[in-house]
Amino acid sequence: MSNEVMRLLADAGALVTNSHIVYTSGRHGSAYINKDALYVHTEATSRVGELMAAAYDADQVDVVAGPTIGGVVLSQWVAYHLTKRRKSGETLAVYAEEEGAERNRLFKRGYDAHIRGKNVVIVEDVVTTGGSVAKVVEAVKALDGKILGASILCNRGGVGEEAIGKVKLNALTAVSLDSYPEDDCPLCRDGVPVNTKVGKGKAYLAARA
Ligand SMILES: [Zn+2]
Repeated sequence: MSNEVMRLLADAGALVTNSHIVYTSGRHGSAYINKDALYVHTEATSRVGELMAAAYDADQVDVVAGPTIGGVVLSQWVAYHLTKRRKSGETLAVYAEEEGAERNRLFKRGYDAHIRGKNVVIVEDVVTTGGSVAKVVEAVKALDGKILGASILCNRGGVGEEAIGKVKLNALTAVSLDSYPEDDCPLCRDGVPVNTKVGKGKAYLAARA
């Protein structure tokens, strides 16, 4: 399964290696999974959703929830494939948006009603620290949703279940690549140009200028 996912990512041009990336977490590293390059290919994205859905008994899942933005796309495809496998009924897809300075996640747009007391699967594309997934876990628990598991496309930071509220973690791929705090980054020391096309490199350089 992992090989197929890596091939889907590679075919989409979503694997960036030998570069100098600034991640959302603020840490630096040499490789990046550019999920945005995957999402323009709907058949490949659908297949990723199907593989993520495979970990669950479709009839048990009421709703799939992800954090904006990648989780919006994936929640749609995972719910779509779960619905196709159900004996009856429908699995819904919702997303949680970022709210406030603490970057908590909130189900707006009436989506909270679809979470309350329901069986929920959480999805996210690439996790480095697990922070965004942990925030969705909190948001689902606050609505008394029962979390069946969290499915991620790529576990990029060796994130464990401890980091996401002890929820069962199903990762399609695990790419464990070194990442460094910005003040102790060997790529910075070696003067490797920061990649401004993917990740947060452009904003990082602008903030330093
Ligand atoms: Zn660096």
